[in-house]
Amino acid sequence: MISEFNRNKIIDVALLDEKTLAVHGILNDSIYSLELDFKVNLSDLVCFEIEGRWLRYTTPECPQALNFLAQAEGFCLALGIEEKIHKTVGRTSCRHFANLLIECAYAVRETAKLIRYQEAQVHNPELTWQEFLLGESETGSNFSQKAAEDTEDASVAVSVAAPATGEPAKRLPTPATGKSGAFIIDMHMHTAPASPCASDSVEAMIAKAQRIGLHGICLTDHNYLWSAADIRSLRKKFTFPVFRANEIVTEQGDMLVYGFYDDVQGIIKLSELKKRVQAAGGFIVAAHPFRGFLTFGADDIGLTPEKARSREMFQLVDGVETLNGKVTATENGLAREVAEGLKLPATGGSDAHDSSSVGLYATAFTRPINNEVELLAALKTGDYQPIKFR
Ligand SMILES: [Zn+2]
Ligand SMILES: [Zn+2]
Repeated sequence: MISEFNRNKIIDVALLDEKTLAVHGILNDSIYSLELDFKVNLSDLVCFEIEGRWLRYTTPECPQALNFLAQAEGFCLALGIEEKIHKTVGRTSCRHFANLLIECAYAVRETAKLIRYQEAQVHNPELTWQEFLLGESETGSNFSQKAAEDTEDASVAVSVAAPATGEPAKRLPTPATGKSGAFIIDMHMHTAPASPCASDSVEAMIAKAQRIGLHGICLTDHNYLWSAADIRSLRKKFTFPVFRANEIVTEQGDMLVYGFYDDVQGIIKLSELKKRVQAAGGFIVAAHPFRGFLTFGADDIGLTPEKARSREMFQLVDGVETLNGKVTATENGLAREVAEGLKLPATGGSDAHDSSSVGLYATAFTRPINNEVELLAALKTGDYQPIKFR
């Protein structure tokens, strides 16, 4: 099913040292295949040392494009650079490289923003994403902010290599991946007392996830925001990747929201949620979009996949949960057809409300995920698939 997805860019942003990001981008389709590597100063988002590589191309002119990539060196990858990239790289080099560089620039900005937020949280664990963004716009989105001293903190690290000076950075042990190389996360579960409908504690859920061999879990308690400090201490206690997200109720159904740290209460309009999540750079997945719809059979209510996919909800979400542990196979099947038809990425999660169903379904990512920054970045690549885990 995943082979039909037309998502073929993979961007990897890592913290090379406390001042520099290393960016690696791959664009792959049935005709072209190319890679881009460069570095970025965190202080001003200026890129340098750009290197391109063709893995597959069509005309003898293609290799020439590599000579023109250096024109982008010195570009500041802040918002607004897209046009300049199209005009220079796109016209003189190759639009594929321009495309990939623009995608990389987006990932760089998101990473820089999240790093600044997590640095701020070290000093103020209660700081919400919204408050942080407000502060950013007041101070005029400062790229000048010095990288914090505390980069060894687990939640700050994107993928921290040894810093230029001083002692080697402490890194989180890289989580193991399965035999297939996949990194498997149950992306949807509830805990007590955070979710009134759940019956097991977060400790019981983590212990179960560890026992059955999941590589990580994501807590999605209903309209509940875990504090970064609680998550850090859970991760330390279990030496296990625990991430936080949120399951937010909208007038169009439940939405799993990743990389968004507002504490939303009550029912919110999906269009409003979309605006806020987009501003925060987060990712919305429609949870169990057809739960209960098919109790009487799709034919009885005339819900064809075509009709289903025209629902407004699917214009507003970034992905669809197509394997949910609490709905029927037919309901998951319809969600999958809709996601495939709309070329939306698909996730899987148990929706466990007690430890017995942890890991029924999960999402298989292609590489290890150490923290919420990486989880969000991975979600945006579309490079994963829902799986039945046990
Ligand atoms: Zn739900
Ligand atoms: Zn749920």
